Amino acid sequence: MRESLSQQVIDTCLAMHSEGINQGSAGNVSVRFKKGFLITPSGLVYDRLSPGDIGYVGMDGVADGLLVPSSEWRMHRDIYASRPEAGAVIHVHSTFATSLSCLRKDIPAFHYMVAVAGGTDIKCSDYALFGTQGLSDTMLIALKGRRACLLGTHGMICFHDNLDKALWLAIEVETLAKQYWHTCQAGNPVLLSNEQMAEVLEKFKNYGKQAEIKG
Ligand code: 13P
Ligand code: ZN
Repeated sequence: MRESLSQQVIDTCLAMHSEGINQGSAGNVSVRFKKGFLITPSGLVYDRLSPGDIGYVGMDGVADGLLVPSSEWRMHRDIYASRPEAGAVIHVHSTFATSLSCLRKDIPAFHYMVAVAGGTDIKCSDYALFGTQGLSDTMLIALKGRRACLLGTHGMICFHDNLDKALWLAIEVETLAKQYWHTCQAGNPVLLSNEQMAEVLEKFKNYGKQAEIKG
């Protein structure tokens, strides 16, 4: 069980690279396991990883692996602690989400797909030093009522029920960031109203269920 979940974490990291949403040793991935989570090690490139390199971290922050766990284990831990529905967490420095985060811009309701993150916009947090409790604290504020947020002058983070869905969401958020970026180059986007976004959020409750049935 632990070995196959660890391999899924590695496969997700490799997919982040092939999908072009991360590079080098930036970013980190975790999956909920027992009373804590399995997480990528700090500062290593993903194509050299094997399942034994994916360490377990408890909710108290105590790690059992040989390698030092991701410096961002606090963000992962705090998502699992505060959002019982979270099964997997992905943090990346994808180009367009990171660019918007450097401008400290939220992604507003410029397109109905913004609702995939769970609300009417995708917020950008304040800046805090990477790997600190301060970063996790400001992330939790931006994540309120959402499954994804931008991290000020840093990147983005998202969570979902499992690794496949978290990867899907990370790609969606990066796509939205890219579309918003391009739209802003050409003019001022026409934003959807709260009522229009409420309709989308309602419709999303049943959208995509066929994929779950088909597997
Ligand atoms: P780690 O290599 O420690 O996971 O850090 C990468 C990162 O993105 C820090 O924010
Ligand atoms: Zn980072």
